[in-house]
Amino acid sequence: DTPILEVEDLRLVYSVGARRIAAVDGVSFTLRRGEALGIVGESGCGKSSLGSALLQTMPNNAALTGGTIRYDGRAIVLDGKGVVEKGRARIDALRWTRIATIFQSAMNALNPVTTVRRQMTDALRLHRPGITRAEATARIGEVFGLIGIPRSRMNAYPHQLSGGMRQRAMIALSLILEPELVIADEPTTALDMLIQDQILGEIADLRARLNLSLILVSHDMGAVAESCDVVAVMYAGRIVEIAPTRQIFDNPAHPYTRTLIGALPSLTGPLEELESLPATDSAAVAAAQGCRFAHACPAATDLCRAKVPPAVPLGDGHISECHYATSFAAEPREVRA
Ligand code: ATP
Ligand code: MG
Repeated sequence: DTPILEVEDLRLVYSVGARRIAAVDGVSFTLRRGEALGIVGESGCGKSSLGSALLQTMPNNAALTGGTIRYDGRAIVLDGKGVVEKGRARIDALRWTRIATIFQSAMNALNPVTTVRRQMTDALRLHRPGITRAEATARIGEVFGLIGIPRSRMNAYPHQLSGGMRQRAMIALSLILEPELVIADEPTTALDMLIQDQILGEIADLRARLNLSLILVSHDMGAVAESCDVVAVMYAGRIVEIAPTRQIFDNPAHPYTRTLIGALPSLTGPLEELESLPATDSAAVAAAQGCRFAHACPAATDLCRAKVPPAVPLGDGHISECHYATSFAAEPREVRA
């Protein structure tokens, strides 16, 4: 069975004046069909940049400097060079039809001066020119049903919907063309907790019913734990640990993951402290010798500061980029009091 997505040593660099920011600095992973992958990590670690590379929606000052992305066995990006034609063809090939995206802010994704129904009809027509009005309405009703929007809201303008309904409308819009892969970047962050839970639950439901493959970007470990099969932990542009969700929580084998899930309380202090580290935001971290987490790692040794850690395979798809991965994996994690 061909994986829906294979990413190999992907690199994305932003240019700001003379500065180069290696936001995605050698990322590899495989997503199987129907699988949900959570990407977690603190602000600035490169989650959205990775998402934009996968969707080929990078801003103008971004360049893919290396790596390969295979979608359903076919290279979209080969050695850092996009192989699908630019413009319309590229957008058609990637966005909407087979890969869809759900953004953080529905307000930015929905057109404020057009009804939701109209936007969905337009999206349908663009890709299925022959579709009749009745067919379009039926399909929109179906998708509204899937995501829990009353059909009566079809003719509403985005501003007439509540935050939660607006986010659902955007999810409906992303699903209208029956994508195989959905990339959701903090899809519920702007909403209150109750609605967040509901919508994440609905996304999980949809995934099972439509056999979608999902990449869920979040800095909320809990949300990812509930809705994903596999978790990738990103730090300063790299996936420093990836594992089946249970493994990540029961047997975290990277000190950064342990810190994120609160398994190293005595050594690292509260999470807020960690989040305020300039670490992930600095090119210096990526450029430093040795392990990029060494400067903040409670367990770092001279080896860590001198040598880049290898990707240590721990079985079952569990990989940790830590010199001491094996001993961490063997240790039970301490739970934060
Ligand atoms: P958040 O959780 O806050 O959304 P993130 O993990 O999605 O963060 P990115 O937005 O991918 O992080 O940013 C990764 C790095 O790239 C950061 O250092 C950020 O400042 C930088 N960056 C992001 N977008 C641009 C841009 N358009 N131009 C220059 N630098 C950028
Ligand atoms: Mg982001």
